[in-house]
Parts: sequence; C-alpha cells; structure tokens
Amino acid sequence: MSIFDRLARRAHEQVIFCHDEVTGLRAIIAIHDTTLGPALGGTRMWSYASDEDALEDALRLARGMTYKSAAAGLNLGGGKAVIIGNSKADKNEMLFRSYGRFIQGVGGRYITAEDVGTSVQDMEWVRMETDFVVGISRALGGSGDPSPFTALGVFEGMKSSLKWQTGSESFEGRVVAVQGVGHVGYHLVEHLRHAGAQVLVADIDRDNLARVTRDFDGIEVVDPARIHAQGCDIFAPCALGAVINDHTLPELKCGIVAGCANNVLAEDRHAAALAERGILYAPDYVVNAGGLINVANELEGYNTDRATQAVHGIHDITTRIFEIARDEGITTAEAADTLAERRIAALQRVKDHYIARPPARLQRRV
Ligand code: NAD
Repeated sequence: MSIFDRLARRAHEQVIFCHDEVTGLRAIIAIHDTTLGPALGGTRMWSYASDEDALEDALRLARGMTYKSAAAGLNLGGGKAVIIGNSKADKNEMLFRSYGRFIQGVGGRYITAEDVGTSVQDMEWVRMETDFVVGISRALGGSGDPSPFTALGVFEGMKSSLKWQTGSESFEGRVVAVQGVGHVGYHLVEHLRHAGAQVLVADIDRDNLARVTRDFDGIEVVDPARIHAQGCDIFAPCALGAVINDHTLPELKCGIVAGCANNVLAEDRHAAALAERGILYAPDYVVNAGGLINVANELEGYNTDRATQAVHGIHDITTRIFEIARDEGITTAEAADTLAERRIAALQRVKDHYIARPPARLQRRV
C-alpha cells in the first residue's frame, strides 16, 4: 500500500519524515486530525524492525490520541511521533535538540511530550529548540509526573462505574484487584484504601510490591498469573495491554473492568464479550486520560488546581459513555469512539460559521 493510501485509510492529515545526518536522527511525526486543535501526543523511541513498522506505529498511535483528547473534552487533535533508535544506547542532547528543531518547523500543528523510551530530561533538550513541547518538570514551570493524575482519573472512572452498576459509588466493602503497582497503580491503591476498599494487588516487581504494602495497610498480595481471576467488584489492569483476551475472559469474576493500562482489550470483539458476561467495561483511553489532561494544562500556563478539577471530569464523561451505550445498544468501547467522533463532527460544523477575527486565544486552532 502506498503511503498516501495508508493516510487515506484512517484519514490522517500529515506525516513528516525527519532526517539529520549529523546526529543520526530518524523520526516520523504523524498528525491524524486537528479539527479540535493542535495535535498533541508523545514521542516514542524504539528500535523498530523496519521503517514501515515505525510509520504504522506512529499512524496508529496518532489516531488513538485524536479519540483520547476528543473524549476528554480537550481542544486538542491527535498526533504522535517516533524516533527510530535504541532508547538505552542512542540518546544524546544533540539528537533531541535536532528533533526539537524539526518540531519547531512544523509550526505548532504538533505538540510533543515524553512517551515510551523518552524521558522528562529528553523533553528538556527538545524544549531548548521548540516552544511546542509539554510534560516538562515542575522546576521549569511544567506539570511534572502525570501518574498521580492518571490514577485520579481512573479512580473517578471507577466511581462512575460503581454508581452505574450498583446505584452507589461508595467503596466501603468493595473489593478491587489491581494488576501492577508501578507509577499509576501505587497512587490508585492510595485512593482506594482512603475510600475504604479492600485491595488485592499483584506485580512481578518485588520492590514495587514492597513499597505499596509498606505504605498502605490491609493490602493482600496475590499471584500475578491469577490477579484477573480474583472474585472482586473491580478488576483494574494497570500493567500491560491485551489482558482481556480469550484466555482470561472465561476466568474473570469481577463486575467491572477499569484500569490505566492502554489497549486493555486484546481485540475489539472482547468489548461485546465482556458485556455478554454482564461485566461493565470503562473504556481504557477515557479513564486513563488524567495524565493527558494534566499535561495539556501546561498550554494555558500550568495550574495544579485547574488540572485536578479537569481530571475529576472523567467521572461524568464515563457516565455519558455508559448512557450512549445503553441508549444506542452498542458496547461501551463503541460508545467512547462515538462520543469522540460526534464532538469532532460538531466542532467542524461550528467552524463553518464565518467570524471576521477569532479571539487571539483561539487563533492558533482556527
Ligand atoms: P509502570 O511501569 O510504572 O508500572 C507498571 C507495573 O506493572 C510495574 O510495577 C511492573 O512491574 C508491573 N507489571 C508488569 N508486568 C506485570 C504482570 N504480568 N503482572 C503484574 N504486574 C506487572 O507503568 P505506569 O506508568 O504505572 O503505567 C501502567 C500502564 O498504564 C501502562 O500500560 C501505561 O502505558 C499506562 N498509562 C500510564 C499513564 C501514566 O500517567 N503513567 C497514562 C496513561 C496510560
């Protein structure tokens, strides 16, 4: 398939190939849709087997960001970039500064941040060359670690799910099984314990397990291979993707699936399979948008209270998705996509109205 056919297949707007012989930079910036605003999405650094694989990853992830930002109610489009290379061996200041100059050249249609294989330090190098980067440290006026905000958003999504399914959003007497107690899982456990939930955890990293059991009382540790099969009210995947699959589905004994991991469903059809079993699925990209909402706040001048307030909004967005699923007889995963697509289509129509001069604040996304 030609490159333009690949863009046409999922309606991508633009792809930029970046090459710098001096630093060895090879990067691909993919912009999916900028109807709502500039395309925001992280930069992934990965040793791709081929350039085709790198392009496909950038295109797939950029489209995912369009949906995530739209559903979260942000005025942002979807984009993503990949740097082809080994994130352990190939990093240096000049590589990221060279990359930063390419981003500046895109003129604000794409805004980057850290992602798998890149760090806050890398983004600080990028920032030396461009205005269009977020997710920098608090010391530099940025929003810092997104994980506590992601955890807060997941907790709000869980509350909405409990309310929808049981009529009460109280965690007293509820059992939640958390798979993975890393950056996000740790903060999620903190919310759950404060709310009175009984918490089961599993992790393959002993240090992370030791930290969470030391810091919070009443935590039960279970076998990582069996965490999905625990009898519980909520199963929270916070480690890996594709944990809802043909193998795990028959073993689930939960009422709700809600966690921070990306791509929780191995395949789209697993959303319907969960619904058939009476398990409520809170779509992953909706409930894990807290980190994105926080980082996006940097574009308006970072303010913790405003960011926290916006993350609480995930509660009502999740409820809205459950309503769409119920009213239209579709899965909650389809309802999330529907919500995002309708918001984009509606703004497209609003933009058709002529105004002589948009407010300066909006000019960058008109
Ligand atoms: P992390 O690497 O800090 O934590 C993941 C934890 O899962 C680790 O403790 C790891 O040991 C554990 N783990 C790995 N394999 C496991 C297994 N088989 N069974 C049990 N535990 C296992 O990552 P994180 O930042 O907490 O993110 C967790 C997930 O959420 C990732 O999928 C990430 O892409 C997604 N996510 C994170 C954020 C964020 O703000 N950090 C935002 C959106 C989505």
